[in-house]
Amino acid sequence: MNDLDPALDLSYDTLAVHTGIGRGTGVGVGIPIQQMAAFQFDSLEAAAEEFQLNTGSSYARIQNPTTKALEARITALEGGSDTVCLASGQAASFTAMLSACRAGDHIVATSSLFGGSVGLLSNILPLMGITATLVPNTPEAVSSAMQPNTTLVWAETIGNPAGDVADLSALAEIAHAQGALLGIDNTWGGVGLLCRPLNFGADIVTHSLTKWAGGHGAVLGGSVTVGHQHDLSRNAIYTGGSPSLLDTRGAGALAWRQRWFGTSQLGMILPPQSAFLISQGLETLALRLNRECQTALALAEFLENHAGVGRVSYPGLESSGHHALAGKYLTGGAGAVLTFEVEQPATFLARLKVIRMAPNLGDTRTLAVHPWTTTHGRMPEADRRAAGVSPQSIRMSVGVESLADLQADLEQALA
Ligand SMILES: *Cc1c(COP(=O)(O)O)cnc(C)c1O
Repeated sequence: MNDLDPALDLSYDTLAVHTGIGRGTGVGVGIPIQQMAAFQFDSLEAAAEEFQLNTGSSYARIQNPTTKALEARITALEGGSDTVCLASGQAASFTAMLSACRAGDHIVATSSLFGGSVGLLSNILPLMGITATLVPNTPEAVSSAMQPNTTLVWAETIGNPAGDVADLSALAEIAHAQGALLGIDNTWGGVGLLCRPLNFGADIVTHSLTKWAGGHGAVLGGSVTVGHQHDLSRNAIYTGGSPSLLDTRGAGALAWRQRWFGTSQLGMILPPQSAFLISQGLETLALRLNRECQTALALAEFLENHAGVGRVSYPGLESSGHHALAGKYLTGGAGAVLTFEVEQPATFLARLKVIRMAPNLGDTRTLAVHPWTTTHGRMPEADRRAAGVSPQSIRMSVGVESLADLQADLEQALA
């Protein structure tokens, strides 16, 4: 499956194109699509072992070699120990949250989350007896919301759409002080390119692979990666029963449960065609996202100095209240998304000639939305404002077009 010598100290760019590919006569140069439901065994022992360990392939709801190759690639890029890929970012967040919580447990989350994550925390998990408190994205607010039954702290590397950067090390310290796990939705961190939350103490990292990983707005997917070290000794999911999950699965317990839960039990699998497309996307992620970060910064500076534009939120701007945190955690760049306020959002969006009005992020094309009426439209007004959204806000995900063309398009729409 993967012939890369783990002893080689390879860079991101090299891992992105070589991980998950075999080497040898007749082996395809790339990740092959294995579009089948079941895989064979040559002995009863091999079958029994696979059903116990789930390390190979038996049935495609549990494991598919194409998806597995993508999982190896994401694990390498995030610096983790294991990854499970799922049908969407939403499926990944749900799986990750339920790997740390069960009925009676509590989650502390920052409020500037992707709308679907707020939905899970406010509408879906309470159905299972799991409660959540959403607080402003500061260590102080998270710390004071912790309860004795808090088993998970949840945040996004860069908040959506306010551009607020999570203080990862501080959050890890708060969570770990009472045996809780820190889960980070690193979608905006570009699969370890801009930020590797596991290096700053996170235990679980999720992605919507639909965004920068897929990268062309053509496929949905999600992933959950776990780090090398996490303390499960105070989480009853892992310590309860005899033998407990920790007894039977050891250091791999967290990753095992995520795979078992998200794929085997709930069936939220990432199809092999999608895994193939996303693995291709990862091969050019660094080229695209590095360029997009540069363009986003230039556009943020342009907009900040434009008389027709109100507040501009982009953590790469020196004027941003999150510039210092961006310098500490976003070592690869401040991201490709900026939010800014215009007086007449409807007119501005209607005038755009190159930039398209669409809700996605991480596309090769620059896309803009009006969060107040779309992505955040169903939230109570106070929650929308708390998330950094105003009726004037435009969120823009910067693509790979030329800076000059994008700037000209914004200029004429603002005129
Ligand atoms: C899009 C997104 C999600 C959800 O991902 P889907 O693939 O659309 O299910 C989760 N988190 C963040 C930060 C996102 O941008």
